[in-house]
Amino acid sequence: MQLIVQKFGGTSVADATRIKYAAERVTNTFSEGNQVIVIVSARGKMTDELLELAFEINKKPSTRELDMLLSTGEQMSCALMAMAIHSLGFPAVSFSGRQIGITTDSIHTKARIVNIDAKRILEELSNNKIVVIAGYQGVDENDNITTLGRGGSDTTAVAIAAHLKADMCDIFTDVDGVYTSDPRIVPEARKLTKISYDEILELASLGAQVLNVRSIEVAKKYNVPLRVRPSFNDGLGTLICREVSEMENIVRKWCNPYKK
Ligand code: ADP
Ligand code: ASP
Ligand code: MG
Repeated sequence: MQLIVQKFGGTSVADATRIKYAAERVTNTFSEGNQVIVIVSARGKMTDELLELAFEINKKPSTRELDMLLSTGEQMSCALMAMAIHSLGFPAVSFSGRQIGITTDSIHTKARIVNIDAKRILEELSNNKIVVIAGYQGVDENDNITTLGRGGSDTTAVAIAAHLKADMCDIFTDVDGVYTSDPRIVPEARKLTKISYDEILELASLGAQVLNVRSIEVAKKYNVPLRVRPSFNDGLGTLICREVSEMENIVRKWCNPYKK
């Protein structure tokens, strides 16, 4: 039995059909005899919409209140994902970051995880449940809700995978994997089968948002086996590991499409 973390980004849970499709992937993995932890992002453009609403109401919203607001997007997705899993006849239970013991520092809107108390996750896994967790959030030592910065659900997934020494952390997204450049901007971009932590860090630092920078740093530090995979087909995506010669110089060879 393996422990698999599966993270679904915003596009992958944008509506009921997509949530149901993602739930099928989760239950397929579970049916193969694995323990599964699911991390979800807010649906579609929900985080942007919440931000827009906040700034419409107050030009300088308090960052504490922003975190209260923004964390609700992921909370909605995780309840809906648990319901979708139930409707397929499988056991699942959803949790907010706070409920699952994710403690952060107090830097609202870009907090860093300082501790994960995985007791509840382990309890539910041993009760044969699929554990669904709201990404992008935690709670500081004074019980204020915090968020981890844009794209922070990747960090939640990788941090939990690192903490529990998961066998694999799959990041499901709306492209087929990691490309030499953003495939939406550069049509000739080539999909990579493998890429090293350092190389993808370089891509991310040039602006590639396919994985959040912090999540790659955590994956590298704890050597988390990581894959970026397509949500909408069965492709194997891109494996991210320690050393990959194939990628040598490839980042440097391409112009920087992220430069504004
Ligand atoms: P999610 O909502 O699943 O977290 P993101 O929008 O954060 O997805 O990241 C996926 C997007 O990253 C893709 O739609 C793609 O346009 C963009 N992207 C930028 N650079 C790359 C790259 N080198 N390889 C793949 N995707 C990239
Ligand atoms: N919902 C948050 C964002 O849009 C976090 C995430 O999707 O990873 O940035
Ligand atoms: Mg993302």
